[in-house]
Amino acid sequence: MQSKIWLSSPHMGGKEKKFVNEAFDTNWVAPLGPNVNGLEKDLEQFLSPQSEIHVAALSSGTAAIHLGLILLGIKAGDEVICQSMTFSASANPIAYQGATPVFIDSEPDTWNMSPEFLEEAIKDRIAKGKKPKAIVAVHLYGMPAKIDEITTIADKYEIPIIEDAAEALGSNFHGRQCGTFGIIAALSFNGNKIITTSGGGAMVTHHDELAEKARFLSTQARDPAPHYQHSQIGYNYRMSNICAGIGRGQMEVLPQRVLQRRANFDWYKKHLADLDAIRFLEEPEGFYSNRWLTTVLVKHPVVTRETIRTALEKENIESRPLWKPMHCQPVFKDAPFYGDGTSEKLFNDGLCLPSGSNLTEGERDRILTEIKKVFN
Ligand SMILES: *Cc1c(COP(=O)(O)O)cnc(C)c1O
Repeated sequence: MQSKIWLSSPHMGGKEKKFVNEAFDTNWVAPLGPNVNGLEKDLEQFLSPQSEIHVAALSSGTAAIHLGLILLGIKAGDEVICQSMTFSASANPIAYQGATPVFIDSEPDTWNMSPEFLEEAIKDRIAKGKKPKAIVAVHLYGMPAKIDEITTIADKYEIPIIEDAAEALGSNFHGRQCGTFGIIAALSFNGNKIITTSGGGAMVTHHDELAEKARFLSTQARDPAPHYQHSQIGYNYRMSNICAGIGRGQMEVLPQRVLQRRANFDWYKKHLADLDAIRFLEEPEGFYSNRWLTTVLVKHPVVTRETIRTALEKENIESRPLWKPMHCQPVFKDAPFYGDGTSEKLFNDGLCLPSGSNLTEGERDRILTEIKKVFN
């Protein structure tokens, strides 16, 4: 059996161990310390070198979305709008709060939240007597959502946006970085993301007091007192100084990682150009994707995305169907949904190809050979 080709595996830049060793040498082996502060500064500089932005480093992207909902005051019985086609971590924190997710279908240009169905849903929920309290918008696979249209609608109805930029660090919309559009945004540094801290995430916000509040809540909400004093419920969501050391090393290579992921996309597109059955997702004008994963749609009378996926699997190559929409998940079967079937079609036809920034030329050739074989 040939060696495994992963969908997206960690790719160290070289400086990570230096920061981790510093943490050991100075005994900052704790969920606070110079690497945590340093990573926050690095991210702030990357996301918005010109204008003010604040980052709180956390234990995961899921924690960032959860704290975001808490900071916006989401409570049991509230409704929160959420993109349906996404990873479950976009929606689960809504349920943690005892709130109900209202799912919105995708549009075909970016596969993200449809502005049309977003507005339809807001109007309908208001007519039913319940105005949604927040909107969780996602930039799937690194492709920015139609964030200007979504923001216009959100502003019109005065509903705050939580931007799930877990897959989109390094993507931008007309030059403005993903993660800087919502009142609150979430980043993820899980092992499969474009950069990793092994596990980790961050909450991004333009408001200093929200970032401070996130740091406070993520360290068990301890009031200033010599003893342990609490006047609200806290969480253990802060990032470890060891993990943050990995993150500081990874930040040094982030721009390179974006280019490497984009090069994968270009390579697949060029070498699969002769197969009419395989379609790629192009960037609309002004949209810049980090191409976290290269995704294709398979449109063929006989070959399906499962034919390709299982053929690759036999050769020890990992690929994966697109995210199964949340409104099709058993756990969310009772949640309201607004759409026309676009995300279900994408799920049925779509496949994520191996997209690591560390893919070798030889590995890409192995993948290509297998895909071509399926069609011969
Ligand atoms: C990875 C991911 C998350 C969650 O991030 P974790 O750090 O794994 O908790 C949230 N949303 C999306 C879209 C993701 O891909």
